[in-house]
Amino acid sequence: MKNWKKISLLTIAGLLVLLIGIFYLFNISVSIPSSDIQFSPSNAKRPLNFTNEGKKPKNIIIFIADGMGFGHLSLALQTQQSEKKVSVWQQFDVKGWHDARSAYGSLTDSEASATAIATGTSTNFGHIGLDKDGNPVQNIFELASDLHYNTGIVTDSYVWDGTPAAFSAHIRNEDDARSILQQIATSELDLLFGELEDVGEGDVPEENESLDILRKRFIMLDRSLELPGGGNSSKPIAAIFREDEIQDMQSSPNLFNLTKTALSYMSTQDNPFVLLVESEEMDAASHENDSKRVLNGLKSIQKTLSLIFDFSKTNGETLVLFTADHETGGLSAVSDFDRYPNMQIRWSTKNHTAAVVPLLADGPGAENFADIHRNWEIGMVLKKIISQDSANGKNDQEY
Ligand SMILES: [Zn+2]
Repeated sequence: MKNWKKISLLTIAGLLVLLIGIFYLFNISVSIPSSDIQFSPSNAKRPLNFTNEGKKPKNIIIFIADGMGFGHLSLALQTQQSEKKVSVWQQFDVKGWHDARSAYGSLTDSEASATAIATGTSTNFGHIGLDKDGNPVQNIFELASDLHYNTGIVTDSYVWDGTPAAFSAHIRNEDDARSILQQIATSELDLLFGELEDVGEGDVPEENESLDILRKRFIMLDRSLELPGGGNSSKPIAAIFREDEIQDMQSSPNLFNLTKTALSYMSTQDNPFVLLVESEEMDAASHENDSKRVLNGLKSIQKTLSLIFDFSKTNGETLVLFTADHETGGLSAVSDFDRYPNMQIRWSTKNHTAAVVPLLADGPGAENFADIHRNWEIGMVLKKIISQDSANGKNDQEY
């Protein structure tokens, strides 16, 4: 009888081990191998719903928050709500999303996605201002310069980084800083505010050489950001800072001050303008899963965006576009119910994700962004808007 008890206990224990084994096996089998996910064709074109109706904007400001997804936006909205402030995000006429991608599929890097936004062409990882076969594609700044607009870049990152470079260069090697700087210096760019990084490493020239290259085109501003000629000069200007000098609202300089100076320069020129404002903070912080830096970076983005809104609302002639090139970190704001309402930030990766990203537009021409699905369609619509004949609303360029 004792033996029988022993055997049945052993059988139960064996069954338990078997059940646990099956449980783990089941758990493993429910995670989907990446090869099973069907990626939709990345280069499927569709007719764009471009109306040509409504007023053509005089100026265009494109704000790209690198790496900022809906998780980051939710965090911005929630933290502003707790401060009982009216959210700058709610002021946009058009609120939507786009599927940030590359020619490879649902994942992208900054170079490919910024090139899609700047040129209207889907491309490969690392391609700056080039299509997927490596051919140069005209970007929105080049088209704008041909049509007598002034163009400018303000970034809290380095000036030859993927996003600003997509609006000012055409190159396969994203690390070839010397060539990117040389291309910027021979471009038609009128304003360049940002940093240098990794000077003297690899293909990155030393600080003096970098500044000498840029001096061929730009008058260099000092730290006071005082404009040449008492603000009456039309010569191209640049303000270049050292690595990580432009951080958040605590740093001097910061994105807010640089954008303020850029708007005051651009608005006193004879020509209308297209301005790119880039914040790298969400991407940089999210690659490190640095929640504190995300919160500080969001303050800088929101304050700069409010400044841009103050500018655009006073004249009513400026199209303001806010978007991201991709999401980084898979950030989400969660709450444990037992500690509710304390919010916690959780991360799912230190890399880029395939999440769709915000696309917000306000001002004349904003309605054309309501039907955008993919990053390259932004570039196509921007080119159409800028080519639009303001007198009869006719579009003089075909794509
Ligand atoms: Zn990144």
